[in-house]
Amino acid sequence: MASLRLEAVTVRYGGRTALDAVGLDVAEHEIVCVLGPSGSGKSTLLRVVAGLVDPDAGRVLLAGRDQRGVPPHRRGVGLMFQDHQLFPTRDVGGNVAFGLRMRGEPRGRTEARVDELLELVGLPGTRRRPVGTLSGGEQQRVALARALAPRPGLLMLDEPLGQLDRSLRERLVVELRLLFRRLGTTVLAVTHDQGEAFALADRVVVMEAGRIAQTGSPAEVWQRPASEFVARFLGFTNIVPATVRGRTADTPWGPVPVPPGAPDGPCALLVRPAGVRLTGAPDGASGEGLPCTVTARTLRGGGFSEISLLLEPERGPALEASCPLRSAPEPGAAVRVRFAADDVVVLPPRTA
Ligand code: ADP
Repeated sequence: MASLRLEAVTVRYGGRTALDAVGLDVAEHEIVCVLGPSGSGKSTLLRVVAGLVDPDAGRVLLAGRDQRGVPPHRRGVGLMFQDHQLFPTRDVGGNVAFGLRMRGEPRGRTEARVDELLELVGLPGTRRRPVGTLSGGEQQRVALARALAPRPGLLMLDEPLGQLDRSLRERLVVELRLLFRRLGTTVLAVTHDQGEAFALADRVVVMEAGRIAQTGSPAEVWQRPASEFVARFLGFTNIVPATVRGRTADTPWGPVPVPPGAPDGPCALLVRPAGVRLTGAPDGASGEGLPCTVTARTLRGGGFSEISLLLEPERGPALEASCPLRSAPEPGAAVRVRFAADDVVVLPPRTA
């Protein structure tokens, strides 16, 4: 049975539709990350599941039960927000115990549970510390322990690591995934950071203007974005209107090979940076391929082993290419490129 189900949920604020007939299932033990630009409806999705806002149409079901009329504190849902709002005047233990006290748990049981949770989030022995003396990352762990303490059936995270610096976030997100796996927690998380979503989630949901633009495993969505919107949201920029005929597409860059099975006709064509291959003589003056000038280089990837090159082609819009650091040409260099069909994705044509 799905742990969470949204059936055609619509939420309007005045005349503005924040969620437009959204359907979504989150299975028990699944970690789902909702991604999308600001204003696409991510927070509203969490709020409607938490019971902080009522749907104008559709149903929210938790463990198969319609939540209409069920107040937030009776939904068995844990919430952790970006500005984690710890109680500054309470110590760590007082913060973690909050939900348990609200439920009227006996003191002895509460203390044991608090110690267990602090152990779990990597903060053993901190029960008596004032929260103000903890670092940002430690406070985030306390907030997590507080959200997990009442054993919520569903844990919802809203930009959980938004305030922390990048290296800490990258470490914490890996820890979070391992922790949720171990506990079997069902998680619905919201983030605008693709890296975070891709590291945390079993499945990602990309939102566009109150609707679900795509859902799939991180690898599926990354490899096969369903639309130009999703591709651009993921940070891809080599996208042009094109026309497929057989195994080739006519594009502003000239002919580009497409993978087998692409339907003939108009499309939006995505070339991932890895599919823009430098060819020919190092001076770029002779040989095969589209002549380009290197306009910029940026370091990329773990250990900065990869370079992102910005190229100004002889025809068509700017191209982003990726290449190994050791063979990367300097800005101003003349190069030639060819396109590799493996890294070409045929998307539906632009509608507007
Ligand atoms: P996101 O979390 O993806 O940034 P939101 O769910 O916060 O998106 O917002 C979705 C849409 O609903 C936006 O257009 C936003 O301006 C609008 N909205 C959100 N909350 C309110 C509110 N309380 N009153 C009016 N409009 C709102």
